[in-house]
Amino acid sequence: MSAGAAPAQDQHGAAAQNQGKKATNPLCPYCGCEETHRSHRAGPIDYFLRWLSLLPYRCADCERRFHH
Ligand SMILES: [Zn+2]
Repeated sequence: MSAGAAPAQDQHGAAAQNQGKKATNPLCPYCGCEETHRSHRAGPIDYFLRWLSLLPYRCADCERRFHH
């Protein structure tokens, strides 16, 4: 008699809990929404502004781009 031992291992989603580490995005200067996220470089202007420590952001509410 062979015992068919089925491995019953529950795979818990051991996601790393990044608590207390919330991304601090700047507020949108147009509508004041804080749902902003980094935008990709759109051209040489963004590349130049990066020299000035200005990163391109995009507002998720009014979808306007700004630099911060
Ligand atoms: Zn906005």
